[in-house]
Amino acid sequence: MKFNRSLFAALLPLLMLIILAGCSSWREEPKENTVKESQEKPLQEGKLPEQQTPQVQEKDVEEIDFSKIRPNENGQVMILMYHGIGEKEEEWVRTPENFRKDLDVLYEKGYRLISLKDYIENNIQVEAGLSPVVLAFDDGLLNQFNIIEENGQKRLDPDCAVGILEDFKKRHPDFGAGGSFFVYYPLPFRQKALIKDKYDFLIQNGYDIGNHSYTHENLGKLDAQGVQKALALNVKQTLSYLPDYDVYALALPYGIGPKGDDYKYAAQGTYQDTSYNHRAILKVGSNPAYSPVSLKYDPLKLPRVRASEANTAGVGMYDWLAVFDKYPHRRFISDGDPDTITIPESEKENINRDSLKGKTLRTYKLEE
Ligand SMILES: [Zn+2]
Repeated sequence: MKFNRSLFAALLPLLMLIILAGCSSWREEPKENTVKESQEKPLQEGKLPEQQTPQVQEKDVEEIDFSKIRPNENGQVMILMYHGIGEKEEEWVRTPENFRKDLDVLYEKGYRLISLKDYIENNIQVEAGLSPVVLAFDDGLLNQFNIIEENGQKRLDPDCAVGILEDFKKRHPDFGAGGSFFVYYPLPFRQKALIKDKYDFLIQNGYDIGNHSYTHENLGKLDAQGVQKALALNVKQTLSYLPDYDVYALALPYGIGPKGDDYKYAAQGTYQDTSYNHRAILKVGSNPAYSPVSLKYDPLKLPRVRASEANTAGVGMYDWLAVFDKYPHRRFISDGDPDTITIPESEKENINRDSLKGKTLRTYKLEE
């Protein structure tokens, strides 16, 4: 199908009017983007404290009580994997009640939402002493984002994933924002007339849209050209709704990536007139992810934790929450300042210095 750009451009204002008029009832005013531009600071070589604590290197680094907060910004981060939200709890389905419970538990235990993009860009802004968590939803299902009509009024289904999240954020404004929806085509979220509106709503409210291939292909069964076609066609479709959008992340369908050397085409490639550049690739795998400053961090092979309770084989979200409760030093604990990376002295050798990109590294050691 050919895409007539000039005709589209000419009709765009009209389309916008129709969309705005038809669907304003479930849409809310876009929230202001609160993400700050990271301020580049020169990396000071050889400034790591030999021992002793705490050594603050820049005058604007905020003082915190290390013994109380115990920051560890080389700790692990959970990227939680969801699929359906539905009436019956199953391996790939979470009930609305259980999803609400997940959010309650995360909030109570000091986890705060950040976007996948802020995670991979090491721009983690959560309050000192709290931990970031990333949400990922695969497949673009109706029960992830459903618009219902009642008495001629369109509104957000309170029991779909977005409805539950928006309600939770309203009640807990400090929970943060974020959540990546990995969609495939032709019908993301299954309501054809509302695709564009849903996409707009998502990006205006701090969520993002990722690649989950064109038609949920098994990338392990395709050759280099097939992989690029499956991924580029997804991006092309997404751009047809959101021109200039940066599709920066891919969730591998079935958790399967291209074989051998072709894996590189999961990250970058071109098919016909469309190129893509994924800086994050999510697997299905069952561990928390490493900190973006860790030597072990690989953004093109990010593991996810399954956010369900059925058949998790001991490595689901609640299992990992229990691990982090028992061994808090394994968890990413923020120092409250995205421009300063604070770690216990013992983590010093596990940091990838190249990842700091001008941020200040601060270490501390507690007298036990
Ligand atoms: Zn999938």
